[in-house]
Amino acid sequence: MQVLFCFGIEKRRIMYYNIQKVSKGVFMKLYAPRYYKKFKCIADKCDHSCCIGWEIDIDEDTLEKYKAPEVPYASEILNSISFEGAPHFKLCEGDRCPHLNENGLCKIILRAGEGYLCGICREHPRFYNYTDVAEVGLGMSCREAARLILSSPDYDVTEEIGQTPYGEETCFFDGRSEREKIYKILGDKSADYSAKLQTLYSSFKIDAVDDAVWRGIINSLEYLEEKHKELFLNYSSQSRPQGMDEYLERALAYFIYRHCTEAYDEEEFRLRLNFCLFCERLLASLIYSQKAGTLQEIAVLASIISEEIEYSEDNTQALTWR
Ligand code: SF4
Repeated sequence: MQVLFCFGIEKRRIMYYNIQKVSKGVFMKLYAPRYYKKFKCIADKCDHSCCIGWEIDIDEDTLEKYKAPEVPYASEILNSISFEGAPHFKLCEGDRCPHLNENGLCKIILRAGEGYLCGICREHPRFYNYTDVAEVGLGMSCREAARLILSSPDYDVTEEIGQTPYGEETCFFDGRSEREKIYKILGDKSADYSAKLQTLYSSFKIDAVDDAVWRGIINSLEYLEEKHKELFLNYSSQSRPQGMDEYLERALAYFIYRHCTEAYDEEEFRLRLNFCLFCERLLASLIYSQKAGTLQEIAVLASIISEEIEYSEDNTQALTWR
């Protein structure tokens, strides 16, 4: 039910928008983690731009806007669209978006204005979850978002930031309360991180799975870059880096916020939590094997996990519904 998701297609992935059907005119409260408001796309300063390597599907409403002849730059935009399958921007050399200029800035914003961005470009790296309220978060595939998430200790505080159209597929299992229970365990100042993890595993009846089984699944996943398979095969539940607990805890809290909240029932919540704990162990393994020691290095590894796993429905499902 996430609004942004991607499927693997050859070496590139397509981002598309609007899985979540919304009832126009009916609104629900929208919440976000406290750090959310601090996010700002760093555009030309970004060292891993989301305007490279992704085919962007264009939603119908925005496509209609491009057809208005008075819109500046509209003819160039229309000429850059492929109508084979879902309408999308044709990528240029190096898989660059045709509207990314040599300075790393978006020509649609510069020439036509921000109001002419399609839904995906406007929303990325945000994702939405719908329960009794709507929640928005920042996806860690964006390294700027990853840096913010990993450096924000108050991940358990959400704030009302406005309203959003009511989600027709709204889920009524109380995943938010279950999530709060987990955040309470993680927030226990009297326990160290490994003790908190043990409490989590036992409270939610998460059984240990042999590392070889996880590595077998890692081996079978689809990858944007083959070298990331080699990187992920460093997975080991025994590889825990020293002094990185605060980053791992925040990453785990993010995975849970993103993936567990919309569970339909208790059993699905448990399976999703198991997936999140796997992602946490994978991040720990990568930090350990790559000897990552700085926030920047850890953010890069977290964004690779996000891009390769969270942004592939097939990979997420393979690791959740083993
Ligand atoms: S990856 Fe993040 S910071 Fe970089 S261009 Fe995209 S949204 Fe902006």
